[in-house]
Amino acid sequence: MTKKIKKILIANRGEIACRVIKTARKMGIATVAVYSDADKNALHVSMADEAVYIGASPASESYLVMDKILAAITDTGADAVHPGYGFLSENKDFALKLQGMGVTFIGPNVRAIEAMGDKIASKNLAIEAGVSCVPGHMGLIKDAEEAVKIANKVGYPVMIKASAGGGGKGMRIAYNDEEAREGFQSSKNEAKSSFGDDRIFIEKFIESPRHIEIQVLGDKHGNIIYLGERECSIQRRNQKIIEEAPSPFLDEATRKVMGEQSMALAATVDYDSAGTVEYIVDKDMNFYFLEMNTRLQVEHPVTELITGVDLVEQMIRIAGGEKLKLKQKDVKLNGWAIESRIYAEDPYRNFLPSIGRLIHYRPPTEAKTANGAIVRNDTGVYEGGEISMFYDPMIAKLCTWGEDRDVAVKAMQGGLDNFEITGVGHNIPFLSAVMQSDRFERGDISTNYIAEEYPDGFEGVQLNAGDARAIASVCTLMAQKLAERAASGSGILTHHDRAIPTDVRVQVGDRHYEITTESTNGSHLVTSTDGTDKAAIELEISTAWTPGQTLVTSLIDNETFVFAAHPIPEGYNVQYRGSNTEVRVRTPAQAKLAKLMPEKIEADTSNLLLCPMPGVIVSILVEDGDEVQAGQALAVVEAMKMENTLRAENKAVVTKINVGKGDNLAVDAIIMEFETSLY
Ligand code: ADP
Ligand code: ADP
Ligand code: MG
Repeated sequence: MTKKIKKILIANRGEIACRVIKTARKMGIATVAVYSDADKNALHVSMADEAVYIGASPASESYLVMDKILAAITDTGADAVHPGYGFLSENKDFALKLQGMGVTFIGPNVRAIEAMGDKIASKNLAIEAGVSCVPGHMGLIKDAEEAVKIANKVGYPVMIKASAGGGGKGMRIAYNDEEAREGFQSSKNEAKSSFGDDRIFIEKFIESPRHIEIQVLGDKHGNIIYLGERECSIQRRNQKIIEEAPSPFLDEATRKVMGEQSMALAATVDYDSAGTVEYIVDKDMNFYFLEMNTRLQVEHPVTELITGVDLVEQMIRIAGGEKLKLKQKDVKLNGWAIESRIYAEDPYRNFLPSIGRLIHYRPPTEAKTANGAIVRNDTGVYEGGEISMFYDPMIAKLCTWGEDRDVAVKAMQGGLDNFEITGVGHNIPFLSAVMQSDRFERGDISTNYIAEEYPDGFEGVQLNAGDARAIASVCTLMAQKLAERAASGSGILTHHDRAIPTDVRVQVGDRHYEITTESTNGSHLVTSTDGTDKAAIELEISTAWTPGQTLVTSLIDNETFVFAAHPIPEGYNVQYRGSNTEVRVRTPAQAKLAKLMPEKIEADTSNLLLCPMPGVIVSILVEDGDEVQAGQALAVVEAMKMENTLRAENKAVVTKINVGKGDNLAVDAIIMEFETSLY
């Protein structure tokens, strides 16, 4: 018996609430948003037909409070609830309460949520269903000493995990007893503060695996299918940042075996919604079950793009009791899709979250591009909006589709080039760097990619000579436009502005160019030499850039070239595909003077431990006068519900501790000072 759903309340916020509203609208179903104080002006609120206020900004006082959501359902007469991901999406009590009220939960049955929501319980089911699992100890661990004992039995390295874990939280790798002890305690603390459940287990840590997961879809009539895989190997802190479908690694036979094992696991709980079975896969293509997520996954758009199936629509139809119309043989994987998660976080500081106002937020146009690629951007923010400290710092999910992987990667590069965000730190430079790397291009990735490619942290990309010259040439034209505007505008000329410079010296990082320009009808012939005897290079450039714009789009010898530029004295700070370079455009006379200026020397902070993000001190692990070794844990800071352990970079002696447990710190606050000169 099917039920026609008429009004869906979305018990979530941000991009996923917006995503669900879009499909509901397409299906002619009314929508209700819920919102907290921080989300009064959020996009999901303005998109929904109705919106209900549910409390203060912390999720624990709004989005996680069942009674408030239930009251909103009663008040608006919603007959179904979509929980999105996170929050109450995998909470069986919530699903049970809805059942009691006769309201449809757009997710799987309660038993499936309960069995799969717990990593220990789900592994035991998986073993029974014949699914290949990570070896480990599938029981609870009571204290750090027992953790050490079990870790030795499983064999180092091990992964210490929260049974209730999610979002990469409550998880630590240990290579020895000391790390097992420390990891057990911090996993437990993090699990308690994030999930209110501090049960811990231990499994073997598989080194440099790939993360590959299978999307399944089941209905209430016993039908289950799978919609291929997604590879999500580019991760930081065990959390995905770039995902793609299909995987560049799997072969047809392994895909089929993984699909079939996933369906077998889903069948053990009569799975009746969209769900994801996650695996790690080693270099020999052995795969091991990690967990099943009984909800819509963040990265579901890449599956939608290669299968043409609207997963939210399927979830709604299945929840209403409809039979799956799709059969396994109808599932065709077409082309290639990639998703880049754009986060408010600082890639140069170990991806720590940033917060602030989106002064500019201008995503690339969602459309088909010239080479047939598709650009899709799922978001819940808008220009002028705020990225607050209360929720996940994801800004948007930029997805591209192409007929093959190469087209999808190129489209992603272009999309990232054209994505303009200012006001908050963001990870676009990092995403751009990955899209251009040879390893990513070859599909040679693993969950250890960031650690292997950036052992000392991401420090940006070095500009190559061709790009540096292109940037120098375009910046010359920008300087001319500025001078032109000054000359024609106010009538008050300063001595700089009087002449429009056609012969300039341009410095791009450490590179120096002598540049002359000739202009005809909006097109410019820009001739540059790099100060050596090498022949001058001519570029034909046109640009529609006008002063005040951050994105600079030009046509250079008929190829589009896009970078972001922020004004600095005598030039611009230019961001291009992961590089960040200062560009100065000077007249020959100014250039001579600049050469005589002393170089700025950066302050030496190597004898200080600075707080890398706004956060609260959980503990200080050393005392005044202690000698510490490189890599030794010094302090634990909690930010956005994550515990971060700060470690010594070098051997040193602690000479002063400035803060204590519970202190609220700003970025760069000095936590402690060292004497390092002894070593
Ligand atoms: P997925 O497994 O769906 O690919 P992740 O594991 O990276 O995605 O993130 C999903 C998890 O992250 C959720 O289960 C939740 O724990 C957390 N999360 C993500 N977004 C939010 C959000 N907006 N609010 C609360 N928690 C969130
Ligand atoms: P969550 O519920 O937080 O998503 P998962 O169990 O799915 O937790 O693991 C998240 C990520 O952590 C995986 O994608 C993988 O990169 C890494 N990981 C988890 N378990 C292991 C393991 N045993 N060995 C190696 N990596 C692991
Ligand atoms: Mg997971």
